[in-house]
Amino acid sequence: MHLQHYRLYINGEWIETEETIPVTHKYTGNVIATIAKASRQHVEDAVTHALQTFRTSTLTPSERSDILLRASQIAAERRAELELSLVREVGKTRKDARGELDRVINTLRISAEEAKRISGEMVPLAATPGSENRLGFAIRVPKGVIGAITPFNYPLLLSTHKVGPALAAGNTIVLKPATTTPIASFLLVEILEQAGLPKGHVNIVTGSGSQVGDWMLDDPRIAMYTFTGSAEVGTYIKQRSGLRPVALELGNNSPNIVHEDADLALAAKLIAQRSFHNAGQACIAVQRIFVAESVLDRFTDIYLEEVRALQVGDPEHPDTDVGPMISEAEAIRAEQWVQEAVGQGAELLHGGKREGAVLHPTVLTATTPEMKVNCLEVFAPVVTIIPYHSIEEAFAAANDSAYGLQAGIFTNDLNLAMRAAKTLEYGGVIINDVSTYRNDVMPYGGIKNSGLGKEGPHYAIEEMTDLRMVVMNLK
Ligand code: NAD
Repeated sequence: MHLQHYRLYINGEWIETEETIPVTHKYTGNVIATIAKASRQHVEDAVTHALQTFRTSTLTPSERSDILLRASQIAAERRAELELSLVREVGKTRKDARGELDRVINTLRISAEEAKRISGEMVPLAATPGSENRLGFAIRVPKGVIGAITPFNYPLLLSTHKVGPALAAGNTIVLKPATTTPIASFLLVEILEQAGLPKGHVNIVTGSGSQVGDWMLDDPRIAMYTFTGSAEVGTYIKQRSGLRPVALELGNNSPNIVHEDADLALAAKLIAQRSFHNAGQACIAVQRIFVAESVLDRFTDIYLEEVRALQVGDPEHPDTDVGPMISEAEAIRAEQWVQEAVGQGAELLHGGKREGAVLHPTVLTATTPEMKVNCLEVFAPVVTIIPYHSIEEAFAAANDSAYGLQAGIFTNDLNLAMRAAKTLEYGGVIINDVSTYRNDVMPYGGIKNSGLGKEGPHYAIEEMTDLRMVVMNLK
């Protein structure tokens, strides 16, 4: 079988390298492609060309917008190919791959729109005595070369969330995707080239985080790092980047509260659907489900019925709801956390079974806050159901987390919903939907160990530009 091979893309050229890395199908384990592995010299070259391009680029905002819009259209035209690629390299189901693609197409379009809206503000200098003849305004200028490092779980979308806004704002980029799922980023770069992006604006270097990622962190010519991944690597990047700004989108152990007045059928359905999508490997996947004691039995019955209906297995099959995790090692790690919780007194309500990299949707109850399945980010198709007596108790337990990305609450009480919005210490509070809800226009990003800064093209552009003050001394 002919294996697809992907080369580095530096200054508009597809570059072959001595070493390559195999990429596997995450369900069958077969090698589906190889990718070029960057050397330190390749990373340096990529930054050199990205910087030169930044300083000499003649693209206007409307040209940048046109390119991003064309890229969105090309992604839509190449849907079938992109869907299959995501299914194979990530192991995500067809349904999940289609969801990711919809959002990629949308994020490119929003980035195109935002490229035309970047502005600054007037500063009323003349209102200060002594400055009557000063005219002041702040303009938004691009930062320069953006170093983007992305994770394995939404490889096309999360690279798009960095590349789209960076280009919209007039920056250039050096992108390093995760080594386990790099193909999506190569396809994104291909699409941008097809859309007419001139050379040097986007460059891709691939290889392990500890090497290629580290070389990127070593290079002071990179003006800013935008990273999505684990809190551990995010913390390291923050330490290594010195005074250069970073945007960090990290993990979560998302709480979802089901209050006694909630629409239980709606809550159970949405929570069941979003607990296990992408095999639970989503930063805002439902993890801890807090349920009012008075509705616990009813909620649990409806929820488990929904969970039992989920189809588990081959992600290429159109009806599959839950496919494999990224690797068997990760599935074993999650299985061990489940077994450890059970050993400490937790009760297994559903699942727990593992076949290779596939961990069946797993529901635990009678857990304690100290168990790994609650206090750490499980990043697997595993949830816990935790009864609560009073809403204050639920808020306190939900906030008892090292993370703070997004939280969900189901209630029909408007006042309680607003209290939740104010009380839950998270970057986003979702009412009558799950913590997993994300629309790409919204400001998205966490507090505490969930990160720094916001994504969503409008907000990412703010992170990727500087406000430059201009003062005119008028005669
Ligand atoms: P990871 O942190 O292991 O890797 C992410 C990226 O960092 C990869 O490209 C990797 O090669 C690179 N990297 C690793 N070590 C590095 C180093 N020393 N220097 C520079 N780069 C390095 O994360 P992952 O396993 O790919 O993804 C899962 C994590 O991502 C989870 O914690 C999840 O919550 C998080 N995530 C967050 C969001 C969000 O938007 N907040 C979205 C998706 C995933």
